[in-house]
Amino acid sequence: MKKYKVGIIGATGMVGQRFCLILDKHPWFEIVVLAASQRSAGKTFKEAVGGKWKLADPMPEDLENIVVMNATDDVEKIASMVDFCFCAVDMKKDEIKALEERYAKAECPIVSNNSAHRFTPDVPMVIPEINPDHIDIIPAQRKRLGTKKGFIAVKSNCSLQSYVPALAPLMAKYKVTKALACTYQAISGAGRTFETFPEILDNVIPYIGGEEEKSEKEPMKIWGHIEGDEIVNATEPTITAQCLRVPVSDGHTAAVFCSFENKPSKEEILAAWKDFSGVPQQLKLPSAPKQFLHYFEEDDRPQAKLDRNLEGGMAVSVGRLREDTLFDYKFVCLSHNTLRGAAGGAVLLAELLAAKGYFD
Ligand code: NAP
Repeated sequence: MKKYKVGIIGATGMVGQRFCLILDKHPWFEIVVLAASQRSAGKTFKEAVGGKWKLADPMPEDLENIVVMNATDDVEKIASMVDFCFCAVDMKKDEIKALEERYAKAECPIVSNNSAHRFTPDVPMVIPEINPDHIDIIPAQRKRLGTKKGFIAVKSNCSLQSYVPALAPLMAKYKVTKALACTYQAISGAGRTFETFPEILDNVIPYIGGEEEKSEKEPMKIWGHIEGDEIVNATEPTITAQCLRVPVSDGHTAAVFCSFENKPSKEEILAAWKDFSGVPQQLKLPSAPKQFLHYFEEDDRPQAKLDRNLEGGMAVSVGRLREDTLFDYKFVCLSHNTLRGAAGGAVLLAELLAAKGYFD
C-alpha cells in the first residue's frame, strides 16, 4: 500500500505527542509536517516541546530535528506537502472551526480530535467499529465546501468511548431504551500529569466542564443516520451521565446502567460482546484491536492500571455484568482515553478513510 504523507497540527501538545508516537513507523502513514502555534514555529520539534514531553516513551529520534511550521500562517504550504492532517489544538472553538475549514478548503483532509465540528451536520463523527458508514456523508460535505479532496472528519469525546462500544452491539436486537453512565476519568484527559496536577492526589473532583453534555449528546449523532446531505441524530436511548475526575494517570472507567425494550439474558449480552466485530476488524486496519470488547469474569476487573493498554490501548474492557434493581443491567467499562479515546481513535479513523480511498 502507498504511504500517505501526514501532518500533525498541534504536534507539540499532549494529543499531538501521542500522534507522534503512534505514527512513528506506521505502515501506511509517514509524518512529514509538524505544526503548532507561533510560539513553536521555526524551532526544531525538540526545542519547541522542551520540557513539555508528557509521555513515558521518548520522542522519536527522527522527529527531533523537524522544524515546526506555523499551523495558522502556513495552511496552504502545509496542504501542499501532505495527503492529510491530524488536528488537536488548544484554541477557541470558533477559531478551530475556521482553521479546520481553511485546511479542508485548501484540499487538505482533516482528521480531528477537537470538538469544534462534532455537530456540524455533514461532518462525520466516527467510532470506526460502530458507525463507519457515516463517512459516506463526505461527498455532501465536499459539495458544500466546494472541494475535490478536502473534508473534515472527527472522532468523538473520550469519555463515551468506554460505554458506547458496550451498548452498540445491543442496540438493534434488544433496543436499549435508557442508559446511565458515571465516568471516572483520568487526568491525562485534562492534559495533566501527577506532577502538574498535585491537587488530584487523595481526591476526586466532581466536575469536568462540558463533559456530561458531550457524553449524553454525542452518542446520538454516532447512532444517527444519513438523510440527504446531513446526519440526523438518533432519539433513543435516553442517556444521563455524571463525569468525575479521579487520581488515575490514563484510562477512563464508566459504571453503566441500562434498560431494554426486549430484555436479553446475561448470556445473550455476553455473546453479543464477544461476537462484536466491525469494519476495522474485517479490513484488518493496522490499529484495529483483534477483539474490540474484552469481557473479564473476575469481580475486580477491569482496572485502569491493569487493563487500559489491552491491544495497544485500542480495545475496550468490560466486566461486572449483573442484573440491577432499577435498570435491567449494570456493568463496568474501561477505555484508554488518549489511545482509543484520542490519538489512537483518530488514527483508526484515518486508516478507515485511507482504506476507502478518501485521501487519494
Ligand atoms: P495541549 O497539550 O494544550 O496542546 C495544544 C496544542 O495546540 C499545542 O500544540 C499548541 O502549540 C497548539 N496551539 C495552541 N494555540 C494555538 C494557536 N493559536 N495556533 C496553532 N496552534 C496552537 O492540548 P491537548 O490536550 O493535546 O488537546 C488538544 C485538543 O484535543 C483539544 O481540542 C482537546 O479538547 C482535544 N482532546 C484532548 C484529549 C486529551 O486526552 N488530552 C482527548 C480528546 C480530545 P504550542 O505548543 O506552540 O502552544
